[in-house]
Amino acid sequence: MNFKDYIRVIPDFPQPGIRFKDITTLLKDGPAYRAAIDALKELVKDKQIDLIAGPEARGFVIGAPLALALGVGFVPIRKSGKLPGETVEAAYDLEYGKDRLAIHSDAIKPGQKILIADDLLATGGTISTTIGLIHQLGGEIVGAAFLIELSYLNGRDKLGDIDIASLVTY
Ligand code: IMP
Repeated sequence: MNFKDYIRVIPDFPQPGIRFKDITTLLKDGPAYRAAIDALKELVKDKQIDLIAGPEARGFVIGAPLALALGVGFVPIRKSGKLPGETVEAAYDLEYGKDRLAIHSDAIKPGQKILIADDLLATGGTISTTIGLIHQLGGEIVGAAFLIELSYLNGRDKLGDIDIASLVTY
């Protein structure tokens, strides 16, 4: 399946000059959504994974079904102020803005093997912050899986030697 056929590109959103990759057109197509999760599962199936961690909100849309498909648990990474328990937090830069991410302090036990999942790798800011939070809790990152990688933003360079799987590259 050519997943690009299901991803809509919207120019100048959320600000001029950004060509936003809209995955809602893929998500609303049942067979395409399922095929995307199956294809991501295929890319990571040989890894030993205890948990998948994904940043809100679109990281949930990819990470949670992938966790179910692999039979492992899911850990949400959220914007600051949303998680009810004790958290660790870190500030981060987006392709277009700034924010803070948080994870429950007890979400990951030291030594657990974590796969990160998100819809899209852009500058890598979100994922390098996610990596920092997982490392703070002693998690071992075994890879990162994305529906989309914007290779022209060189997000990979920010993620060190982490193994990256992406279905679609622009
Ligand atoms: P990064 O931190 O620059 O790598 O940005 C990645 C995050 O921003 C992801 O969690 C995406 O959800 C979001 N994002 C950035 N650009 C786009 C886009 O073109 N389409 C959809 N999401 C985007």
